[in-house]
Amino acid sequence: MKYPIVEIFHSVQGEGYYSGIPHVFIRFGKCNLSCEWCDTEFNEYIDVEMTEVVDEVLSYDCKRVIFTGGEPALQDLYPIGYELKKYGISLSIETNGTIPINPIIDWICVSPKDQLYPNVKLKQITGDELKIVYCGQDLSMYDKLKKGFRHHFIQPCYDENISEEKNGKHFKIVENLVKQNPGWRLSLQTHKWMGIL
Ligand code: SF4
Repeated sequence: MKYPIVEIFHSVQGEGYYSGIPHVFIRFGKCNLSCEWCDTEFNEYIDVEMTEVVDEVLSYDCKRVIFTGGEPALQDLYPIGYELKKYGISLSIETNGTIPINPIIDWICVSPKDQLYPNVKLKQITGDELKIVYCGQDLSMYDKLKKGFRHHFIQPCYDENISEEKNGKHFKIVENLVKQNPGWRLSLQTHKWMGIL
């Protein structure tokens, strides 16, 4: 069995609940959306045998894996998840929520893009972490969705094509939003500040 793989790397999770904790990231190719701020080259993948993917994960001294993309839920994650779990590895996923997630995944982080795609129905409306990329949308649109998740993060949209000053203004807006809306936590893409993957 083969998976479309963009890259596999060992790094520190830079955002959300597990920020600061080392993981092995498996970035799958392909996505079913096309967000204007997307910062991943998800079409630049090669098909890799599952055993090779597992071997690479095992080459790192790390018991946590994040399936990311692209949209990782486009893949059948059960076979690789089953193999990795034989070695005591816990599985997280970063998903846009448009495809139901296989229950073999231990930690589900949904980052919906419905501010861009209001007509795309979310299929994964429960999970551990709801992570909103804030681009000026009305947060009340998430009032119902929030109930399905234990942790709620707002993350400013970091645009590498605009100045640090303009990005800083986005951050200030989100800081104020978090102060004014109890129950939301600030998430920053700290890996970008640190210049790591
Ligand atoms: S859902 Fe994620 S990976 Fe897909 S286009 Fe949007 S930002 Fe990029």
